[in-house]
Amino acid sequence: MQRIEENKINEIRNSADIVTIISDYVPLKMQGKNYFGICPFHDDHSPSMSVSPERQIFKCFVCGKSGNVFSFVKDYENISFLEAVKKVADKVGITFSFKSQVKVDSKYKKEYEIMEFTTKVFQNNLNSSKGVKAKVYLNSRNITDNIIKEFRIGYSLDDNKYLFNVLTKKEYDINILDDLGLITKDGVSGYDKFVNRIMIPITNLDGEVVGYTGRIFNGEDSAKYINTKETVIYKKGNIIFNYFNAKNYIRESRSAILVEGNMDAIRMYSSGVKNVLALMGTAITKEQIEILKKLRVPIILMLDNDEAGALATINVGDFLSKEKVDVKVVRLEGAKDPDEYIVKYGINKFNDTIKHAISYFDYKLNILKNNKDLNNTEELIMYVKSVIKELDNKDNLTKEITLKKLSSEYNLDYEDLKKEVLFNKEEKNTIIVKDNIITKNNKYQVCVYNILYYIMCDSKYIKIFNSKLGYLENIHERNLVREVEHYIETHGSINIADFISYVEDNTKLRDYVNNICESFKDNELEESVFLDYITAIKKIINKNEITRLKSELRNSTDMNRKIEISNKIAELKKEV
Ligand SMILES: [Zn+2]
Repeated sequence: MQRIEENKINEIRNSADIVTIISDYVPLKMQGKNYFGICPFHDDHSPSMSVSPERQIFKCFVCGKSGNVFSFVKDYENISFLEAVKKVADKVGITFSFKSQVKVDSKYKKEYEIMEFTTKVFQNNLNSSKGVKAKVYLNSRNITDNIIKEFRIGYSLDDNKYLFNVLTKKEYDINILDDLGLITKDGVSGYDKFVNRIMIPITNLDGEVVGYTGRIFNGEDSAKYINTKETVIYKKGNIIFNYFNAKNYIRESRSAILVEGNMDAIRMYSSGVKNVLALMGTAITKEQIEILKKLRVPIILMLDNDEAGALATINVGDFLSKEKVDVKVVRLEGAKDPDEYIVKYGINKFNDTIKHAISYFDYKLNILKNNKDLNNTEELIMYVKSVIKELDNKDNLTKEITLKKLSSEYNLDYEDLKKEVLFNKEEKNTIIVKDNIITKNNKYQVCVYNILYYIMCDSKYIKIFNSKLGYLENIHERNLVREVEHYIETHGSINIADFISYVEDNTKLRDYVNNICESFKDNELEESVFLDYITAIKKIINKNEITRLKSELRNSTDMNRKIEISNKIAELKKEV
């Protein structure tokens, strides 16, 4: 982040009172020095989010979400940090323009530029006389000119030297072009990867083109689709097709429909179902789950009507449910995918199927029943056990209703079923207890996080830290201390709200600061408490040092060194 921009960002933050801004989204009530409201970042029923007017930050005591006014707007609206800054600036009447709408990692500036230029070349091709056939095909599939424009759909000419010539004339390095999957290098020359195909750009979460799906349209030879291979700017696992276009519609409709193919997504979008995202396949990655989870809306799975699609529905459904995402399922009948379904039955019937989406839980229970002969006792037991396993993370009402259904459908004793559920839960509980012990033992971590929190709030604490302790064991901790010192040197003082903006660009540091804010449990800062943490850390560090010295003492053969070590140990013990 540039200095001038940072000043502007801090100016905006200083003019925007966090209580006023958050009140636009969530009603807040004053309680003591702070304000409280229902947390929008988890399924909250009693106010768990506190907003501190003094420190200009918010924090949820249940899910741990925290940050300054920009973090709140960014996460609530699901927009980028700079978009959030712009939004807050608008609210307080400060004019603020940033150069481009999306932030480009300067390291790959060239790569993004080439992809952008290539997309324009493909778009021009489609609009030229050579693109007529491709355009007729697209129109015949109800993809209108507006949609072609919006998705920036293009055409790669039936000439495997065309793009190569255009791009090399612009003096782009052919090694980069090869790396980007646009051409195949052949000595000092090369030829185009995509020939005579409809080109659908794949964009990243910020809307920048990072790859293409090339689709044949004349029904001849070769593969129906070719996708760009993974490149430095195109990591398949980090991308969900149509995310950038759909995100506002998803927010409005409070749901997102997840399909497999790009064409399905485009077809649905052009038919007015705009809250659609495509996985571009049946596999889902951890990163994609994170992206979906952050949308904080129900996800409707509408994967292909084949075996792979059915398997993927369970796979994706399980992953998302585990992350507490509300998942629904639509299985299309009579067509292999949404694209074909809309062609065959029309958009109205298609919209009807969305309205009748069933909960993933119900869907899963039906699947568990499949291929089981429930008149057979053994298979019935297997079925009941698998249902009980599914109830694990469910609320009490779901548990009760499901058990009552099971009980009446298969003539089983309700109380017995309840005991089974409890038994299943007890096994789990023992593990949770063990986890607690581990966190309780980690006193060092708690003390360090508190100390780091204090030093981000007020420059007087770094002074106390340096005079009383001055050292922390772990490299991340030391890095943060150094960053805080640097911040105070360059800014004159520190407050946590501005510091949060400052680390926004540095993913690692930002996550670390988040963790610290998450674990900070008190509301007030008190010097005596800070000093207690310092003393506690000192004790722990001393103890660790004593342990280390004792082992050195055991292994040392040099008498003088042995004496030296024992003295040191005695000294450290006195300090404690
Ligand atoms: Zn929360």
